[in-house]
Amino acid sequence: MTKEVDQPAQLEPMPTDWQRALAVVAHPDDLEYGCAAAIADWTDGGREVVYVLATRGEAGIDTLAPEECAPLREAEQRASAAVVGVSEVEFLDHRDGVVEYGLGLRRDIAAAIRHHRPELVITLNHRDTWGGQGGGGYWNTPDHQAVGRATLDAAADAGNRWIFPELIAEQGLEPWNGVRWVAVAGSATPTHAADAGPGLERSVKSLMEHKAYIEVLTDQDPEEYCRTFLTGNARQAAARFGGRPAVTFEVFPR
Ligand SMILES: [Zn+2]
Repeated sequence: MTKEVDQPAQLEPMPTDWQRALAVVAHPDDLEYGCAAAIADWTDGGREVVYVLATRGEAGIDTLAPEECAPLREAEQRASAAVVGVSEVEFLDHRDGVVEYGLGLRRDIAAAIRHHRPELVITLNHRDTWGGQGGGGYWNTPDHQAVGRATLDAAADAGNRWIFPELIAEQGLEPWNGVRWVAVAGSATPTHAADAGPGLERSVKSLMEHKAYIEVLTDQDPEEYCRTFLTGNARQAAARFGGRPAVTFEVFPR
C-alpha cells in the first residue's frame, strides 16, 4: 500500500513582463531575509530595482545607540543591495521601531512611487503574524505591518492626482498609475513564486553584508547562519513550485 502524499497547491510564476521595480520595506535586512535571491535574478535580466527603506534600522542593535547604529546599518544596506545588482537605496527617515501607519508614511511612499515609476512594487508581510493560516505563528512587528500596509495603499495613492496634491505642487511629482502588481514577500499565504536558484548564493552574500546586525543576533558562523536560513526557506517553497527552490510572494494585482 502506498502512502498518500498531500500535493500542495502550486504557485504561479511571478510576472516577468516588467522593467522597473520598487521595493519598499521598514528596515535594513528586510529584503535580504525576504527576497534578495529573486532580485538578483531580475537585475541579471536587465531589470531595474530600487530599494526604499522607511528607517535606517537604528533601533536594531541593543549595544549600539541609534546615532551610531544608523550610519552603520545604512552602509551595510547599501553594500547588501550592491551584491544583488541594486545601486539605488533611499531612506525615508521614519523612526525605527515606532513607524506609524498613516498619511505621512503613505505620502512618502507614494512620492517614491511617482518618482521611480515602477510596474512592480515589492514589500514585506503586512499581516499580524508570519505564521500559518488560521492562527499560530510568530507575531509580526508593527513596523512591518505599517510599512507593508502603507505600501499597498500608496500604489493606488500614487496614481490619483487628488490624493496628496502637494506632491505635484511642491515636488513636481505627477501621478503614476502604472503599478500593475504589489508583491508581498514573507506572506503566509503566497500566490506566486520566483526561481531562487540562480540568485541564491548572492542572496546569502547579500544577507551576510549585515555584519554588525548578524554578529549580535547569533553565535553561529555568519555564513552558515545566512545559508541555512535562506536555503531552508527556498527548499521549503520548492514543494509548491515544481520542486525548484523558490522565493514566494503574495501578489495583489492592480
Ligand atoms: Zn524588519
